Amino acid sequence: MNIELVTVGTELLLGFTVDTNSAWMGKALAAVGVPVVRRTSIGDSPDAIRDAIDAALQRTGFVITTGGLGPTRDDITKNVVADLLGMPLQFDDAIWAMLTERWARFGRKLVESNRTQAMVPRGATVLTNHWGSAPGLWLESPRGVVVMLPGVPGEMIKLMEHEVLPRLATRGDGTVIRSTTVRTSGIGESVLAEGIGVLEDELAPLTLAYLPGVAGVDLRVDAWGLSPAEADARLADASARLHHNVGVNAWGDGEDDLAALLLVRLRARGLTLAVAESCTGGMLGARLTEVPGSSDVFIGGVLTYSNASKVELAGVPVSVLEAHGAVSQETAEALVAGVAARLATPTAVSITGIAGPGGGSEEKPVGLVWIATLADGEVQSRRLHFSGDRGEIRARAVQTALFDLWRR
Ligand code: AMP
Ligand code: MG
Repeated sequence: MNIELVTVGTELLLGFTVDTNSAWMGKALAAVGVPVVRRTSIGDSPDAIRDAIDAALQRTGFVITTGGLGPTRDDITKNVVADLLGMPLQFDDAIWAMLTERWARFGRKLVESNRTQAMVPRGATVLTNHWGSAPGLWLESPRGVVVMLPGVPGEMIKLMEHEVLPRLATRGDGTVIRSTTVRTSGIGESVLAEGIGVLEDELAPLTLAYLPGVAGVDLRVDAWGLSPAEADARLADASARLHHNVGVNAWGDGEDDLAALLLVRLRARGLTLAVAESCTGGMLGARLTEVPGSSDVFIGGVLTYSNASKVELAGVPVSVLEAHGAVSQETAEALVAGVAARLATPTAVSITGIAGPGGGSEEKPVGLVWIATLADGEVQSRRLHFSGDRGEIRARAVQTALFDLWRR
């Protein structure tokens, strides 16, 4: 059984709203073993809606739509589908009673346009919406099934969880699509592929995807159409092989956050952490303090953007700055030693670099970043040359700083 998604709303095409509904539904449907094979977004136009649903029904016979179920003139999905499937709209007293009750609860008065929300195609199953006003609708016709859900993401999710997914689970063959992710940093996509390419055949029928981002490359393994037990067993085996093969660059799984894992390691050793940041302007501190409960490990740091502040706040010798410049091994090391001494912590990390777009030279190009770490009484540092725009360079610098310290 395959499903197509059709998301309706001119705001999706103009780019004012990102189609998060399709992403959420894709994951949720995969988890019950029903793959989404195509998704289409269209504006609030009757012809476009009709064409999209007609074509999707022809291909798969099962379509889920979101959007266009509200009370305003641009909400036309229901009318178009009722017409396409030859299921004329009828007034539904039960929905009207629910709307009346809901409106009274919020001290509001129903207006004439709300009556359209109580219109239901003849023979449709009403999916009661306790979280908003527009009910979902499940239509079975000789041409196939059309399920219509509201566009508001919170309401769509509730209706999927309470009404749609349980109905689909009973239609499936008991197989699921499950995934696992191994998270890596500090190693490029092509170098990774050199190392684990040989594994790809061994992992079959599981499939492997490389997903590069500023935090590193995520390796996602998908198990298609297997029983839940077999999928889980094969995914666990695949994850173990990938970790073994990638080695130290594979630092986590799934939704793991490197900042959180670093704090766990430091906490286990009873250590505290401080940071000194130049080109990242506090982003490293933000990553660490995003983790709830970080305060027992992360004590703070200095944001030393100018040369003067590097001297004032982190005790970097003026002579070091004059001889080597702000973006240099010597300055990065003086920063990390300085902040650790001032805040009396055994562990610290510093970042100094050129985020661009200006300020680069042949000797010190945009993307050049020095990262220094202090651990076990020893300072180590690394020169990196990141690609990307200002935002990407800064995000990569933060992730690499976390990774360097985590590894040590
Ligand atoms: P509608 O049900 O068409 O009245 O949509 C109500 C609201 O839900 C819109 O104003 C959007 O903000 C939001 N919305 C609609 N479709 C989507 C979608 N595919 N993804 C995320 N948000 C959406
Ligand atoms: Mg809309």
